[in-house]
Amino acid sequence: MNEFKPVIQEVRRLFKTPEDYIPLHIPHFSGNEKKYVSECIDTTFVSSVGKFVDQFEIELAKYTGAKRCVVCVNGTNAIHLALEVHGIGAGDEVITQPLTFIATVNAIAYTGATPVFVDVDKDTMGMSPSSLQFFLETQTEIKDGKTYNKTSGSQIKACLPMHTFGHAVYIEEIKELCDKYNIVLIEDAAESIGSFYKGKHLGRFGAIGTFSFNGNKTMTTGGGGALITDDIELADRIKHLSTQAKIPHKWKYEHDAIGYNYRMPNINAALGLAQLENLGYILGQKRMLAYNYKDFFENLEFDFFKERPFEESNFWLNAIILKDKAQQQEFLEYTNSNGIMTRPIWELMCDMNMFKDNQCTDLSNARWLVDRVVNIPSSVIE
Ligand SMILES: *Cc1c(COP(=O)(O)O)cnc(C)c1O
Repeated sequence: MNEFKPVIQEVRRLFKTPEDYIPLHIPHFSGNEKKYVSECIDTTFVSSVGKFVDQFEIELAKYTGAKRCVVCVNGTNAIHLALEVHGIGAGDEVITQPLTFIATVNAIAYTGATPVFVDVDKDTMGMSPSSLQFFLETQTEIKDGKTYNKTSGSQIKACLPMHTFGHAVYIEEIKELCDKYNIVLIEDAAESIGSFYKGKHLGRFGAIGTFSFNGNKTMTTGGGGALITDDIELADRIKHLSTQAKIPHKWKYEHDAIGYNYRMPNINAALGLAQLENLGYILGQKRMLAYNYKDFFENLEFDFFKERPFEESNFWLNAIILKDKAQQQEFLEYTNSNGIMTRPIWELMCDMNMFKDNQCTDLSNARWLVDRVVNIPSSVIE
């Protein structure tokens, strides 16, 4: 018997299907989604204005505890806006992690700034405060209160950690370092709606936190994203930049900056509002699945990626850590050829052609995880 056969059986038992294909993550609609989307169509307010955009922003701010929220067309441009509104551009550097979805790093590149990579921790799969500290202490110097890279001479303007699969990084330690070095902290919380660190929603530790509501995330607007912040002026600037930097006027076209067409259409916000109403249920079901997996994999002596005591994860994508690369490849091969979608964690950003010359610290932990981590089906089960 193949050693992974029990996994297939357990996933099929949990998802209550003896033979159908089981995808990694599909959206769950069981609330007001149809009602709100129909209302957009019935009233013709499907596009750039409408009440759902405002309502969704207010409710997201309330849910996360942030003072303000701005929604936009996807999570990638949410990060882009977060950097842009801080004046980050060509000649600047942004510290991030090499183990992330490419959007994090693409958004840095859109501004013209250069990403530099520090290692992740094995127990968070996200940015390692000790690697960040080592980089800052050995590779940078402070002049006039600003931090410069000793090798390139560029100013390091921002730090962009990412909370992997909805699990929190050691965000307090990272924030402390950013404050000490006068670097703006922006959290890529794309995967982390409904995730908390010591009771505080992820994305609220930095100047800005960004989210994605793509179809594969915990809740979806079709495509969509959001930024949260406690800085009201900053939120107003973000909104302005996301709407072509148009100065509000009944008929006149006046723009005071190079803006973006990044605002979220009303029809997407309608879907999002309904999803947010149901987020508690979605999170509860996902947590139950994660607990089932945890018990199952512990019995099999597989390493299941668990929630740490300081966090409350949304369990966006459940993950297991296999023994080595060979076992990881076998597992992927076996599960996918038996109708169960599984996927390895991302390849490292600095192994992509576009970023291969970028500065990196020692990346042993990130490389260790790349060879072992696999995501397993994580959708809501009714
Ligand atoms: C999903 C995701 C994004 C943004 O994705 P969009 O598809 O643009 O909404 C950004 N960063 C990470 C880590 C993500 O997983």
